[in-house]
Amino acid sequence: MEANVRESIAGGLKLGIMGGTFDPIHYGHLVAAETARVELGLDHVLFIPTGIPPHKTDRLITEANLRFEMVEMSIRSNQNFKVSRMEIERNGPTYTIDTLRILKDMFPNQELYFITGTDALKELLTWREPEEIIRLSRIVGASRPGYDSHSELGKIFQKFPFMKDRISRLEVPALAISSTDIRARVQNQKSIRYLLPDEVRLFIKKNNLYQTNKN
Ligand code: NAP
Repeated sequence: MEANVRESIAGGLKLGIMGGTFDPIHYGHLVAAETARVELGLDHVLFIPTGIPPHKTDRLITEANLRFEMVEMSIRSNQNFKVSRMEIERNGPTYTIDTLRILKDMFPNQELYFITGTDALKELLTWREPEEIIRLSRIVGASRPGYDSHSELGKIFQKFPFMKDRISRLEVPALAISSTDIRARVQNQKSIRYLLPDEVRLFIKKNNLYQTNKN
């Protein structure tokens, strides 16, 4: 991990880890991170854009450096938010367990909270070493309004009852915004203003992102 990021996080006791593809980052992600920070009393939230997601074969993912830049410009004004290149610089597919092991070694005294979308978490049992993921971190599933995360999480708890104490839900109304919808809007020349930071909107325009249906 970047030395400056490591230093800025080192003093805390509770570290939120915001894992996602962020293609692109939007206000739903930012509100989810801030809600988790406040509700769980996190010292910092570390955004970690994924490198090569192991499960995504259906569409082209925007180049990692561009996704990273969009996250970086979005969180700059919040001193509790940090971003790391640790996953995008790792070779091969990105596995969450590898990231958590590195962070636990680096910050042995901090409680880790892995925050991601509940609809990503419903696949948790198919991820590499799910039991170990839950041992190393508490999991926070951020859900969209109206999304039935109870039954999805129920399936996980049925298989591994001990996970009940380690996974919690966070309902985030702003997550009605989605990256998929933003990409479709750009492709269909619809407005994306007010769904994400203006700097990101201009960056998308300047770099001609999401113009084709390969996205
Ligand atoms: P995804 O399938 O692109 O996203 C699934 C859903 O969750 C989408 O609705 C997405 O909304 C939402 N979401 C994603 N990240 C979010 C966040 N941080 N906060 C709130 N909502 C979020 O999932 P992904 O982004 O590729 O992966 C999510 C995380 O799980 C990443 O850290 C990834 O590395 C990890 N993961 C690990 C494994 C493994 O270790 N084998 C497998 C899969 C995923 P938006 O589209 O609007 O973001």
